Amino acid sequence: MKILLYNSLTKQKEEFKPIEKNKVGLYTCGPTVYDYPHIGNLLAYIFWDVLKRFFLSQGYKVKHVMNLTDVGHLVSDADEGEDKLAKAGRESGRTAWQVADFFIKVFKRNIKDLNILKPTHFLRATETIQEQIDFVSVLEEKGFLYQTSDGLYFDTSKLPDYGKLANLSQIKLQEGARVAKNPEKKNPTDFAVWKFSPKDGRKRDMEWDSPWGVGFPGWHLECSVMSQMMLGDTFDIHTGGIDHLTVHHPNEMAQSEAATGKLQANYWLHNAFNKVDGHKMAKSAGNFIILEDIKKKGYWPLAYRLLVLQNHYRQPLNFTWLALEAAQQSLKNIIREIAFYDEPKKVIAEFAEKFDAALADDLNTAKGLAVLQAVIDSDKPTADKLATILKIDEVLGLNLKEFRKNFLSLSSQAKKLLKQRSAAREKKDWDLSDDLREQLNKIGVEVQDTTQGQKAVQMK
Ligand SMILES: [Zn+2]
Repeated sequence: MKILLYNSLTKQKEEFKPIEKNKVGLYTCGPTVYDYPHIGNLLAYIFWDVLKRFFLSQGYKVKHVMNLTDVGHLVSDADEGEDKLAKAGRESGRTAWQVADFFIKVFKRNIKDLNILKPTHFLRATETIQEQIDFVSVLEEKGFLYQTSDGLYFDTSKLPDYGKLANLSQIKLQEGARVAKNPEKKNPTDFAVWKFSPKDGRKRDMEWDSPWGVGFPGWHLECSVMSQMMLGDTFDIHTGGIDHLTVHHPNEMAQSEAATGKLQANYWLHNAFNKVDGHKMAKSAGNFIILEDIKKKGYWPLAYRLLVLQNHYRQPLNFTWLALEAAQQSLKNIIREIAFYDEPKKVIAEFAEKFDAALADDLNTAKGLAVLQAVIDSDKPTADKLATILKIDEVLGLNLKEFRKNFLSLSSQAKKLLKQRSAAREKKDWDLSDDLREQLNKIGVEVQDTTQGQKAVQMK
């Protein structure tokens, strides 16, 4: 099947052509583990998970690499200010290592809750320090670097097409907007590949010896190094948030191309961010929402996954609690529906093809969800409808199979009430029947009266 993807490199939808037949090398920029990821950060991983699942469903083998930034990402993306992890450690009385361990656990729990498949390789920046030092040595030998008082910098003027991913005026605009500029930098877009530890004798929690002095790697380096280590000089698809389009990705790409003389990845995919009630999510604005908030309010993480997939990955999603509520209701409706279907039999080809066509058109998940609804609304046998829905859900990842299984396992209390209700209905005692339905609802069990008697499903 022809798969179209919007490539930021060529700024158009292109047919995906793998380097190796039926294989995909996929790299996703992971989180900086200094705080809880907000739901906008997590949104990206949901989309790239669907991308990966779609390739798997089309018979591709996918090698997926993701990094965990646990050192080197400074408060400003332009290599200024404190290291985000060191700052978080200082503010909470922990070491940078403790901060990293804690938030790596949080991130792993979050992606599990969202039913995101584990990457093939999940590496911490601090696990590849030697490889990063070796990579910097190559850049130095090739004459791309210069030294300042605080580190080793990459000279972006040495790469004629630097910044080809974004447009350069965008990058310049961003640089102009930054408050503190480093006067020692030759070009505003130059970036650090190795930063020195403070010269005043203060010891960092995370620092290493290198040919240039004690210090730590620049933020962009780990992605160039890990992708090359695990996927080779040039791989198929590089993914990340749209916020990486002006700094992180141009820099990552520049280092890799300088080191190997080859293009780092053939397809660069970027997801849009989400807003909350129409505003940019920010701690200072008080609208910074994390997955734990969603769970505390009684919403399922998978309801958030559904909400995200109702939108296209290149369109900003406007998050509201009302929209999440509606998504949770939609998910419940789907579960309620399929809970009563007969055991799965045959996938209905017509729907499966429509679903694949939607996803093959630059990952149109909203259209894919419409196909799922069309299956439910169709008059096909429920056994075939269920087989089709479960097949579609292998890509959407709403975990419907598990929901169906869980919700059909009723407690003994629920079974007792159902038995009483069945007896009441036989005696045509509708008041008692309604009363028992309400009691069942209170313990999270919903009942449907069908021609084959009452059917019940556990919703909580
Ligand atoms: Zn990256």
